[in-house]
Amino acid sequence: MKRYILYSNGCYLNRIDTKRIEIFLKKNGYTLSDNLRDSDIIIFNTCAYCKEMEDECIKFLENIQRLKTKKSKLIIAGCLPVINKKRLLANFRGPYFNPLSMDSLVEFIGAKHKEIDTIPTAQPILTDDNTFNQKPQKIFAIRISYGCLNRCSFCAVKNVFPKLHSKDKKEILEQFLGGLKSGYKTFLLTGEDTSCYGKDTGTDLTELLMDIVKIKSEFNIYLYRLNPDGLLKMGKDFLNVLKSKKIKYLSIPINSGSNRILSLMNRNYKAEEIKNYIKKLKKLYPFIRLNLDIMVGFPTETWKDFQDTQRFVCETKPDNIRVFKFSKRPNTPAYYLGRLIPKSTMQKRSNILYKTFRFIKYK
Ligand code: SF4
Repeated sequence: MKRYILYSNGCYLNRIDTKRIEIFLKKNGYTLSDNLRDSDIIIFNTCAYCKEMEDECIKFLENIQRLKTKKSKLIIAGCLPVINKKRLLANFRGPYFNPLSMDSLVEFIGAKHKEIDTIPTAQPILTDDNTFNQKPQKIFAIRISYGCLNRCSFCAVKNVFPKLHSKDKKEILEQFLGGLKSGYKTFLLTGEDTSCYGKDTGTDLTELLMDIVKIKSEFNIYLYRLNPDGLLKMGKDFLNVLKSKKIKYLSIPINSGSNRILSLMNRNYKAEEIKNYIKKLKKLYPFIRLNLDIMVGFPTETWKDFQDTQRFVCETKPDNIRVFKFSKRPNTPAYYLGRLIPKSTMQKRSNILYKTFRFIKYK
C-alpha cells in the first residue's frame, strides 16, 4: 500500500488545495501515513507571502530532508516555488509545483487517475482559533476567484496569481448547495481579492451574493479578503445584500490608516473613504463581525502615519484585528524602497495596535 504525508503552513486557500491534493492521492491508491519515515510521498504545501513564513518553510524543509528516508519522494507545492524560487532551489533539488500548476502532480507520482483540476476548489476546512473569535470549527470554504486587479507594491502573491480569474457563478452555487447537502451551515467565500469577483466575467460579488442568499436554508457566510477599493466601488449594492442577515463576518485588509502609506502601497483608496463606509456598515448591521487586516512597518512609515492607523482602529471599532509586519518580498516594487523600519519598532507598533484594539473593545 502506497503511503503519503501532507504538510501545509498557509492560508485557507492553501488549505483548500491541500485537501484537493489529499483527495487526488487517495484516488490514486495512497493511504495516509502518520510517520514521515514510512511515507512514499511527502508533499509540503508552502506559504511565503512574508519573510517569516518563507523562513519557516526553509527550516521545515531542512528538517524533512534530514529525517526522511531515501525511498520517500518529497514534493514542494504552494506559493514558495513562485515567490522565491531561487531560495527554494538553493535548498531543494526535487520536484515542485504551484497553485496554478497542480496538474504537474500527475507526472510526479505517475498517477493513473489524472483529473486533479476537476477536484473542486471548495472543501471543508478547520478554522484557526483566533480568526473568528471562536473555537476552531469545521466550515465549508469556497474559492470564488484567482488573482486580483491590483498591483500592491508589497505583494508577492500577485506574482503567483498575476491575472484575475473568476469562477463561474453556477459552479459556485452548485458547490454551495453541495456544502449545504453535506450538512455545513457556515461557508467561507475567499480568493486573493473577493471584492473584484466577476469583473472579468461581466458580473460582480453583489450579484453572486444575491443568488446565494436567496437559497431557502439556514446558513452563515464569512467573506474574506474584501479589498477596500472593490468594496467602495460596490457601494450601496453591497450594503443592500447585507440586509439578508446571512453574511455574518467580513474581513477587510485596510492595511494602513495613512493616505501617504496607502499611496506608497499602491492601494487605490483613501483612508477616510473606507473608514466612513465601515462606520456606516457597522451602524446599519451591528450583528456583522468585522476583522481588519493591518500592516505595520511599511518603509518610511512615520510615527504620525502609525497614529493615523491607530486612530482608524479607534474610530471603526472592529471586532477583531490581525496585524502583519512588512517584509521585503522578491520581485515586488516595495523591495526596492529604502528607509526600512527596524524590526523592534515594527514589533512595538504591532503591540500598541493590539493594546489599542483591546482597550476600545473591552472598555
Ligand atoms: S489585492 Fe493587492 S495584496 Fe491582494 S492579492 Fe492583489 S496585489 Fe496582492
